Amino acid sequence: MDFQLSDMHNEVIDLARQFAERKIKPIIAEADREARFDRSILDDMAEIGLLGLCFPEEYGGGGVDYISLGLACEELEYIDTSARVVLSVHIGLAGLPIFTWGTEGQKSKYLPLLTSGGMIGAFGLTEPNAGSDVVGIQTNADKVDGGFILNGEKMWISLSDAADLFLIFAWTDRDKKHKRDHSGITGFLVERNFGGVSTGDIKGKLGVRAGKTGFISLDDTFVPEENVLGGIGNGFKVAMFCLDQGRYTVASGATGLIRACYDASVEYANTRKTFNVPISHHQLVQEMIAKMYAGYEISRNLYLKAGWMKNKGIANTRATSLAKWIACEQAEAAASDAVQVHGAYGFSDEYPVERYYRNAKGSSIYEGTREIQKLIQAGYSLKFRRDRPGRKELPTWPFEK
Ligand SMILES: Cc1cc2nc3c(=O)[nH]c(=O)nc-3n(C[C@H](O)[C@H](O)[C@H](O)COP(=O)(O)OP(=O)(O)OC[C@H]3O[C@@H](n4cnc5c(N)ncnc54)[C@H](O)[C@@H]3O)c2cc1C
Repeated sequence: MDFQLSDMHNEVIDLARQFAERKIKPIIAEADREARFDRSILDDMAEIGLLGLCFPEEYGGGGVDYISLGLACEELEYIDTSARVVLSVHIGLAGLPIFTWGTEGQKSKYLPLLTSGGMIGAFGLTEPNAGSDVVGIQTNADKVDGGFILNGEKMWISLSDAADLFLIFAWTDRDKKHKRDHSGITGFLVERNFGGVSTGDIKGKLGVRAGKTGFISLDDTFVPEENVLGGIGNGFKVAMFCLDQGRYTVASGATGLIRACYDASVEYANTRKTFNVPISHHQLVQEMIAKMYAGYEISRNLYLKAGWMKNKGIANTRATSLAKWIACEQAEAAASDAVQVHGAYGFSDEYPVERYYRNAKGSSIYEGTREIQKLIQAGYSLKFRRDRPGRKELPTWPFEK
């Protein structure tokens, strides 16, 4: 077992850290306060290669491994959650599914556009009446000559207003609703310009305010047959694969958020004085900081292990879900304690910890709630759940030439 990061990993850390420090940090307090999404950040991310990190060079990617993706997410969310969400959605929920499940035609058409930022990807599973319960979706895909007509409404979709390519899940055979393999659902690659696609923003969010979250409406949208991703009836499997990658980026991002809480709290505790000593001298304050550090180490080890499994092509649903559950729970706890360490100042936006507190809450909801992660763990423990043979993992790293 080797706990040493490689030169490649350290280069990716530097790249993401410098980007976040230079481009996000100076604007984030105001952007968050005004709930303003800056589209140019996506272009900046594309320019330095962040949008194509872990794809082979033949598709315009950076060729780095999946651990590097996690490390980049940690660095981005150290500064702000909304920046990390871009990688979760664009890479985790759109690019990597196409890379793994796509036909040669889909890969050669879409991956170069995604890695270069020529297209921004989004993932449309959730609907107004269906989140955790995926088979509750209502979006329908009717077979017509040469393709499908899609109708439905997707809700809570990250980057919906900014994206050009949507991975949409819809029923192709409702009669299979009660089949255990959920083979009535299919995934479709829907371009914004296909017709009948409209998007909008959700206002008044608790967190991720500098990011876009919205809805997608599909009104008689024709999707050609060649844009089915992963084959007809495999949509549920594709969606679960997507979540294995997205959850990994949420876990690694939440780890960065814990580190941000920890650093801010250490600095504040060493400067703020009560009873003639810095508050860092009080053992109850020390306890909060010690717990933040423990949360960081636990979360980091869990996501790095999941990333290592991804590199090797080892089934990692359980490991990834555990990393996501624990990192997000630890991020919520760390952010709550970081506000506490800051006292009344933590309650105002003069310090960033109130933003961390609001953003941390979201991570225990999206990409499968905390409760769903617990059910996954229990399912594996109690043998209700197992990794079925024939499931797809990410292409192993290093990529074959
Ligand atoms: C900021 C943000 C960004 C998002 N981005 C995307 C995106 O890009 N694409 C996308 O498709 N979706 C996205 N989502 C949606 C997100 O994935 C869903 O909100 C999430 O899956 C939960 O679904 P829900 O909100 O419908 O809650 P529900 O499923 O209605 O759950 C409500 C509550 O009941 C609990 N619950 C539900 N079922 C069970 C059960 N069986 N046992 C115990 N407890 C249960 C849940 O844990 C939760 O506490 C986003 C959400 C947010 C907040």
